[in-house]
Amino acid sequence: MNADVPCGPEEACDWAMEHLQAFLHGELTEDQADAFRRHLAACESCLDEADLEAAVSRALQRCNMTVRASSTLRMRIVRLHVES
Ligand SMILES: [Zn+2]
Repeated sequence: MNADVPCGPEEACDWAMEHLQAFLHGELTEDQADAFRRHLAACESCLDEADLEAAVSRALQRCNMTVRASSTLRMRIVRLHVES
């Protein structure tokens, strides 16, 4: 028996919520990710929660990319000023 994978239904919800972030970041083992996906397919409340978290983490990633892009752009603008 794998201690990292849930057995009972209530335990499974707790387990899924504890591992949601790791799942979204691809940090679970194959067995754990399988168990997570199986639970989401069977459990509507965790599926809702996962959808929400996934949407938030996508939005955050978009923000980070925007910040990175604009700071690169700013550096390029600063350099242009120095060179001209
Ligand atoms: Zn659940």
